[in-house]
Amino acid sequence: MSGVFVITGPSGVGKGTLIRLLRERVPELALSVSATTRQARPGETQGEHYHFLSDEEFARHVDAGDFVEWAEYSGRRYGTLREELDRHTSGGRPVLLEIEVQGARQVRETLPDATQIFIRPPSDDALRDRLVGRGTDTPEQVERRLNVAGEELSAAGEFKHVVVNDRLDAAVDQLEAIVRGTLEP
Ligand code: 5GP
Repeated sequence: MSGVFVITGPSGVGKGTLIRLLRERVPELALSVSATTRQARPGETQGEHYHFLSDEEFARHVDAGDFVEWAEYSGRRYGTLREELDRHTSGGRPVLLEIEVQGARQVRETLPDATQIFIRPPSDDALRDRLVGRGTDTPEQVERRLNVAGEELSAAGEFKHVVVNDRLDAAVDQLEAIVRGTLEP
């Protein structure tokens, strides 16, 4: 499955915004909807932002081997269902996964042809500002996410492509070049 792209990096680095802008430029790129056991945030809808599952439902999929990757993050589980990927790739459509680092490591084993891209913040402060500014997490959750982010940042060296999210348009330019370079070599 060479039409699979993985965008990873710490929470709060701006993956969501970058992906939205990238998909405006490369509209054929589908976005994989992940499964999660976390609660929906205001404005998030079932099946569009995530497949929101109970702990039991998620565990059943784990036992059945339905996930290409899954990870526990900040006390909740997140994962990519193989069926969700197949829905897009069976029709020849390239698909993008937005996942955290442990999951990206698993994809290296389960989908070795996937193109993996790590997004870096320009600085640690930039990350904190974004997580606080987003206003969706409590102060404890922000601290928890920042602790995880420190570990995640040290993984950047494992990835072939690293994009620094400093100037948004420059970062999107780089992402577009990587995607087009892979799809149209
Ligand atoms: P959030 O709760 O902010 O939506 O997501 C928290 C973290 O989980 C983010 O870093 C996001 O990229 C990651 N994530 C979302 N979906 C998946 C998934 O399917 N698998 C993995 N491993 N991580 C995911």
